[in-house]
Amino acid sequence: MAAKKKSKSTSKSKSPQRATKPLSQLLRLPSGPVDLSSLDTAATHGFPGKGKEDGPALTQALAPEISDLQERLYANGRSDPENAKRVLVVLQGMDTSGKGGVIRHAMGMVDPQGIQLTSFKVPTDEERKHHYLWRIRRALPDPGMIGIFDRSQYEDVLVVRVEQLVPVSEWNKRYDEINTFEKKAADEGTTIIKCFLHVSFDEQKARLAARLASPDKYWKYNPGDVDARAKWPAYQQAYADALERCNTDYAPWFVIPADRKWYRNWAVAQLLREHLVGMDLSWPEATFDVAAEKARVARS
Ligand code: ATP
Repeated sequence: MAAKKKSKSTSKSKSPQRATKPLSQLLRLPSGPVDLSSLDTAATHGFPGKGKEDGPALTQALAPEISDLQERLYANGRSDPENAKRVLVVLQGMDTSGKGGVIRHAMGMVDPQGIQLTSFKVPTDEERKHHYLWRIRRALPDPGMIGIFDRSQYEDVLVVRVEQLVPVSEWNKRYDEINTFEKKAADEGTTIIKCFLHVSFDEQKARLAARLASPDKYWKYNPGDVDARAKWPAYQQAYADALERCNTDYAPWFVIPADRKWYRNWAVAQLLREHLVGMDLSWPEATFDVAAEKARVARS
């Protein structure tokens, strides 16, 4: 992935370009040490348009193909659940990075019947009685479905680590556990797409301020977000470690520059499209005699 180099205004004026490589290559986090500060939060890698003005239209233009592919996935889940594939999109990012926006604008293009969305909050009393992966396992997508995790198992090595909710010895072993967990899900036929929505410290401030500037946005404002913001370096380090230690071929991380909402939404939709295309989804065969059924319908 290209390193940070441009300010927001400079790369905004870029001329239209066609992606030379699939976005899943351009945004794929390389293996090895992760330095989040070197990755540009305002980049527009692979965006085929001019900028903000055509972001929503280019995102929407992906809808017919995504919709067709999702229907194939769903159809296979209905007709052959034992062998049907599944997709899991994991969304992680600092507060205001736009998990909700991605769900609305990118995932919102998919038939809601084919989506299983789970938002992971502070564990409930019931959840606390179990291993931290218990609630995650229960939320894995069914055959033929696209699961979306709004926050995920990674909270157990992020907020839990930064807020010191368990000892170091406890969270430190979780990276391997998460890898094992994700390997099993992948082996069972789940394509896992992990998206880190990478927003800058300054952009987060602007978004928090915007929430306070207008009464119709107060509901989005959580005073606790400012407390977490005060621990920004610790969160960035926790994210860097989670990305580095859980970046596998079967469950790779993609770093989505998230300072520009229109790019972020397009990028996640495009990643989903590329993964669905790569799954080579065909329509299920009829389980009945088509000619005979045509004749029966004609006679009826
Ligand atoms: P938005 O980002 O749209 O504001 P949100 O995802 O922050 O919404 P909230 O209910 O405000 O939703 O926050 C969920 C909170 O739950 C976050 O602070 C998150 O860190 C916390 N959380 C999630 N999983 C865990 C966990 N395993 N242990 C402790 N806290 C967790």
